[in-house]
Amino acid sequence: MLKLYNTLSRKKEVFTPIDGKTVTMYSCGPTVYNYAHIGNLRTYVFMDLLRRVLKYDGYKLNGVMNITDVGHLLSDGDEGEDKMETASRRLNKTPEEIAAFYTDAFVKDLAKLNISLPETVAKATDHIDDMIQYVEDLCEKGYGYETDDAVYFDISKFPQYGKLSRLKLDDQIAGARVSVNEQKRHPADFALWKKAEPNHIMKWQSPWGLGYPGWHIECSAMSRKYLGKIFDIHTGGVDHIPVHHENEIAQSEAREGQKTVNVWMHGEFMCVDGGKMSKSLGNTYTVDNLEERGYSPLAFRYFCLNAHYRKKLNFTFEGMDAAQVSYDRLLDAVYRHKAAPKTDDKAAEKYKAEFADAIDDDINIPLALGVLWKMLKESPSRNIYDAAMRFDAVLGLSLSKARPLKEEQPQQEQELPEQVKRLVEERSAARAAKDFAKSDELRAKIDALGYKVIDTKDGCRCEKK
Ligand code: AMP
Ligand code: ZN
Repeated sequence: MLKLYNTLSRKKEVFTPIDGKTVTMYSCGPTVYNYAHIGNLRTYVFMDLLRRVLKYDGYKLNGVMNITDVGHLLSDGDEGEDKMETASRRLNKTPEEIAAFYTDAFVKDLAKLNISLPETVAKATDHIDDMIQYVEDLCEKGYGYETDDAVYFDISKFPQYGKLSRLKLDDQIAGARVSVNEQKRHPADFALWKKAEPNHIMKWQSPWGLGYPGWHIECSAMSRKYLGKIFDIHTGGVDHIPVHHENEIAQSEAREGQKTVNVWMHGEFMCVDGGKMSKSLGNTYTVDNLEERGYSPLAFRYFCLNAHYRKKLNFTFEGMDAAQVSYDRLLDAVYRHKAAPKTDDKAAEKYKAEFADAIDDDINIPLALGVLWKMLKESPSRNIYDAAMRFDAVLGLSLSKARPLKEEQPQQEQELPEQVKRLVEERSAARAAKDFAKSDELRAKIDALGYKVIDTKDGCRCEKK
């Protein structure tokens, strides 16, 4: 019996899809103005695990993910430049080029992490007409009003506003930097549609003149279009609870006159060295950055799998080293069972039941991983290998690529030219001092001399390219 934690009720609830067979699910997707960092990707690993558990339990999936390529302003409120336009000016490319480039990069990152895309991937800019219609409907029902700069949602008309975050409106306003806008009826009213300033690049004709959608409206409009009036599950990161999802609930329930989502699920944040992950601190890493440091993308997936999705996960390179070692050992442990004969014992059955209990208890993947490890400690048996393959349908760790642990090849170091050796030593020192900028610089120098460094669990090795 699958139980899922619903952010709205703050409880684990027994889950059954509305139609009994196919799960309808909407996942807030990326804003494609930059590479996804490993924190963003943790949220999509969570989405993927949830989808895999639903499939394992025999359900079909009808999932939708949006790609935000317009309307997400620099602050999560209604202020600042559109993130897409900022990137467009910085890189001297059109917003469309920026969106295409980073969407492609995002899809490649997901593939490396064995995350399969939901059945429908919907770009905000392909749905402008749906959004305009949605805003018109809200205005007609008395929930939207026009000012000189935008069309706003009138939250005083939606008394349940704040039910997801359970924050009092006054607290939310006190915490936010709310600009003085005399025409807004309430400081927390949010934009459904923004009127474009003359220098704004992305703008469309609308009943309110040239403009562009507010960030939240795309998710209400696209989930309605692809999943109907009410659907089963909505996912996103915890940062979306107080603003984005609160606003989405207000829009959708106001328009439909009923509840529109049954279960709200949120993935907790990934932090770095115990603190916030942010560009200004220089501690946001991409999958490529991890690969450059010698980690495999699936070792990062394994790293994510070790924490429950509702717990904060602290990223450190020590933790990543440990994940890489454990992942390699896991492949080795599976390998021991691969070539073994089939046995009649029912050992694997017991573990299958334990595994199902773990994943059905609000996607408890760390516990499920524990079951896998325990099972692999049994004497070699093809039955265990087969069970591991079944578990991998949920874990997504490519366990079929099982292989014995590789021996390191330290002798290569001796053949290195003096200059390369010195650079490698300097780089190891920089890495030990966590001076990653310097370490990357030294890597580039080594690279220019025709050598590559590969970071391993015991340090690093260097070889000719
Ligand atoms: P964005 O592209 O900014 O809209 O973010 C994409 C997704 O990543 C959203 O679901 C966010 O909630 C999520 N997210 C952003 N930062 C983190 C983080 N540090 N850890 C986990 N998820 C995050
Ligand atoms: Zn959304």
